[in-house]
Parts: sequence; structure tokens; C-alpha cells
Amino acid sequence: MAEVHPDVESVVLSEEDIRLIVSSMGRRISEDYADKNPLIVAVLRGAFVFTADLMRAITVPCSVDFMAVSSYGDGIKSSGVVRIVKDLDTKVEGRHVIVAEDILDSGLTLSYLVKLLRSRKPASIEIAAFSVKDIPNHAPAVTPRYVGAHVPDAFVVGYGLDYAERYRNLPYVGILKSEVYSR
Ligand code: 5GP
Repeated sequence: MAEVHPDVESVVLSEEDIRLIVSSMGRRISEDYADKNPLIVAVLRGAFVFTADLMRAITVPCSVDFMAVSSYGDGIKSSGVVRIVKDLDTKVEGRHVIVAEDILDSGLTLSYLVKLLRSRKPASIEIAAFSVKDIPNHAPAVTPRYVGAHVPDAFVVGYGLDYAERYRNLPYVGILKSEVYSR
């Protein structure tokens, strides 16, 4: 494995872990959505890396579109406020939608998005979350049908996840050293 970034405290999902997670999720989606031509909605920016890999692990016809929301700004705590920065270009009505998300924390972002997309009358709507944060005594606001991995309740970066727009290009997921965001 490539050297770990000096700002990363520890790796929680290696490149090999990620490969296995994504290919197994792709297989399940391919079984569940044969002949349904699902529309994968990637939630930008974080989910673009995961979505690109997931699409290539899906063996049945599918399409993709992008939505950009802003909920975290440059900080590490959820503001609870979701702003649509870029909407879909594709019509959702009658489509089988799978919302691809990088990480599910409180679930507030996705709960808002799913409500919004539901109002556009899709044939079905499900969530594929690459990772879900394990927070004691806390259930996220939405339940994803597909969950890649559980990650500890810490601020993680890599594989599309950023801190202040950095670290998205790391090929693994790691816990960011706290001194980086308390600087
Ligand atoms: P939620 O609304 O579920 O609390 O937050 C979801 C969004 O917050 C994610 O899509 C991601 O953009 C951001 N987020 C939540 N936890 C983390 C984390 O540990 N690291 C990073 N980089 N972003 C996170």
C-alpha cells in the first residue's frame, strides 16, 4: 500500500477493503435492478469517487446524474442546513432511483434529498451508502438499503471525502488527525 498521508491518524478502509465493498454492492444492485435501468444519483462532491467505482461494478444497464448539496461548509460539524447547489438534469418521474452517498452521519442531508426526490414521483427510491458512521445510541434519519461499511464516530477523509476540499484524492479512508482541524 502507498504511504499513509501524514495528516491521517489511521486507515479505516484500505484500497483492498474498498474494492471488495464496492464490488459486492455492485453485484447486489445488479441482481435487484436487472431490467429496471436504475438512475444512480450521486451526491456531489464527496460521492463522485464511490459512484464512479459503483457504476463499473454494476453489470446491468443504468444511468447516472449528479446533485450537489452543501451541508458542511469547510467545518467538521453538520450545520443541519442543506442547500441544493446543483439539481438533476434527468427527469425522475417513473424511474428507479438509487441515491449514492459517501458517508451517512446524522442522515439529515439524505433525509432531505429523499423527500425532495420523492415529490418528483420516482417508481422507487433507495439509498446506497458507501459508509455509515457508528454513533452510539443514535439512529440515522434514513435507512439505506445498501451499506458498504461502518466507520468509527470520527472525522474521516479520503475516497472522495474532504476536509476543506483536501484529501478527496486519497485512495483509502482514514481518520484525520484532530490537530489538522483545530489548527
Ligand atoms: P449527515 O447529513 O448524514 O449528518 O452528513 C452527511 C454529509 O456530511 C456527508 O455527505 C459528508 O459530506 C459530510 N460528512 C459527515 N461525516 C463526515 C466525515 O467524517 N468526513 C467527511 N469528510 N465528511 C463527512
